[in-house]
Amino acid sequence: MNNPITIKACLQQAQLLLSDISDSSRLDAEVLLAFVMQKNRTWLYTWSDKIPSPDQLQQFNQLVSQRQQGTPIAYLTGEKEFWSLPLQVSPATLIPRGDTEILVEVALELAQTLQQKNPQEHIRILDLGTGTGAIALALASELPTANITAVDKMPQAVELAEKNRAALGFKNVTVLHSDWFSAITLQKFHVIVSNPPYIDEQDPHLKQGDVRFEPLTALVAPNQGLADIQHIAEHAKQHLLPNGFLCVEHGWQQAEAVRGVFEKNGYVGVRSEKDNGGNDRVTLGVVG
Ligand code: GLN
Repeated sequence: MNNPITIKACLQQAQLLLSDISDSSRLDAEVLLAFVMQKNRTWLYTWSDKIPSPDQLQQFNQLVSQRQQGTPIAYLTGEKEFWSLPLQVSPATLIPRGDTEILVEVALELAQTLQQKNPQEHIRILDLGTGTGAIALALASELPTANITAVDKMPQAVELAEKNRAALGFKNVTVLHSDWFSAITLQKFHVIVSNPPYIDEQDPHLKQGDVRFEPLTALVAPNQGLADIQHIAEHAKQHLLPNGFLCVEHGWQQAEAVRGVFEKNGYVGVRSEKDNGGNDRVTLGVVG
């Protein structure tokens, strides 16, 4: 791109460059330019005749070309909003997805119901494979009196989740390094939630779009993607209080298999809930 060039022209050119690789090329261009100029997207429209500085333009061009290679926007800006919370992200973790908000909604409703039944208790929640901390922090934002434990087996994820926790100032979340339940000893929980890896390694979805840049350890599980869900369902029983809930996210075609895993492990009242796209995305059950 040539200098000088207005914000408006910058956005038009970048949109064109990104249109082949992204379904949201205009939005991508706006997010990247807003990030470089440290403003919000509305500001870009108000000041569309302004000319970015040569440094800003150079940084923008670099980001646009990385985006052209497929790098996800969230990894370029290092941030992603989830449940209206600004979260830092890194290539060591999954980028939080809108679909996962249904898991938060379901867990929130369960926690609130348990809280009403036990008004004097602090509801205890465990988030397994927390990544950025998205689920634990979203729950903490809604449940200030709950005690929430967030664990991950990847040290970089633990570090990032703790950074996000500290930035948001949530004192009721504890972030721990743990391979599923390995560091969870005596404490028992009212609700255990998880968005574990659940994609089959042969799934062609792994070769398309943003997911190619995300850590496979957070995406892929053996046994048609079900191995980690099986492990969690089997072990969560020992870590749940009587009448405690297990609640996991899974692929849109896995609901029946996941309900089977829950039932085989003795959970009762097992049911699935749909995401915004109308697909079964979350399965929950009460420890039997
Ligand atoms: N839902 C994500 C995807 O399809 C995967 C999330 C996960 O494996 N936990 O890309």
